[in-house]
Amino acid sequence: MQTEHISCLIIGSGPAGYTAAIYAARAGLKPVMYTGIQPGGQLMITNDVENFPGYPEGVMGPKMMEDLRLQAVRFGTDVRYMMISETQLGQSPKWVKTDDGKELTADTVIIATGASAKWLGIPSEERLNGFGVSACAVCDGYFFRQQEVAIVGAGDTAAEEATYLAKLCKTVHMIVRREVMRASKVMQDRVLNTPNIKVYWNSETEEILGEKAVEGVRIINTKTQEITIIPITGFFVAIGHQPNTDIFKGQLKMEDTGYIITEGKSTKTNLPGVFACGDAQDAIYRQAVTAAGTGCMAALDAERWLSEQGLV
Ligand code: NDP
Repeated sequence: MQTEHISCLIIGSGPAGYTAAIYAARAGLKPVMYTGIQPGGQLMITNDVENFPGYPEGVMGPKMMEDLRLQAVRFGTDVRYMMISETQLGQSPKWVKTDDGKELTADTVIIATGASAKWLGIPSEERLNGFGVSACAVCDGYFFRQQEVAIVGAGDTAAEEATYLAKLCKTVHMIVRREVMRASKVMQDRVLNTPNIKVYWNSETEEILGEKAVEGVRIINTKTQEITIIPITGFFVAIGHQPNTDIFKGQLKMEDTGYIITEGKSTKTNLPGVFACGDAQDAIYRQAVTAAGTGCMAALDAERWLSEQGLV
């Protein structure tokens, strides 16, 4: 069977991937997108997006991603709901394999694989995942209406999710490992001014309690060594994200943290014809709008590269 050859392959379907697709499709590159395991990316598990330009009243994350998908499809993007599981990007054309064993070659590859939530890494967290432990307050908060819940983390995500949970739950116990929060001032103020959010400073999670479902959490104050047991039914983890770049390890230059390194003010990676955009290469801004911006850049870089190589 002949291997399918693609001019512009886009891996990932968040704001970066879809924006790259819109630009690449309009430029006549006939992009093929492999969506990955979570079509739409992280915004599919987000509630209100109030900071994406063009939506004066805000928009629900999944609605925005559906709009982006429709826009990409309108110009001819071939969207495939499948994972890319293996790549060889150092050769020409580049070679990839899908989850179901299909092999493809591509002239250019745009990587828009995003990032995923980090976990604490304690055994009880894994054991009770899905039984009261969650990394997405917006997805799962509803199940804990009028109940006691805890959230760990102190960045903007934790602050946003804590205030979201506070509207649904009886009390939100927020576990912060230092004596300050990393979250922006406005988000911190929101947390500290919400009466049913109780902040535990200098505190680390020792164990999530419960056999079949979450029943409590044991925390330790690292300054005083005081142990506190908080009865809860929901435990939310909001401690940051990890770029989804494992399949490119050893091929693309990356930071120690796994973020792909791009060249100067471009989306060029160390390999010719391979471009990276969105959260997979951005440890700093990590916003939907910046991801979309770099998605546009990647498509323009890919188009320019293809034309320099005489491939379009
Ligand atoms: P961040 O990396 O900004 O914050 C992670 C937080 O988790 C930090 O407070 C960190 O603590 C804490 N943490 C990390 N590991 C552990 C651990 N093992 N135990 C306990 N706590 C831990 O991630 P976010 O997801 O919050 O934000 C990512 C980016 O997205 C940021 O740039 C943020 O501004 C942006 N964002 C913006 C939003 C908005 O504008 N509406 C909403 C959400 C995110 P410590 O501070 O001690 O390191």
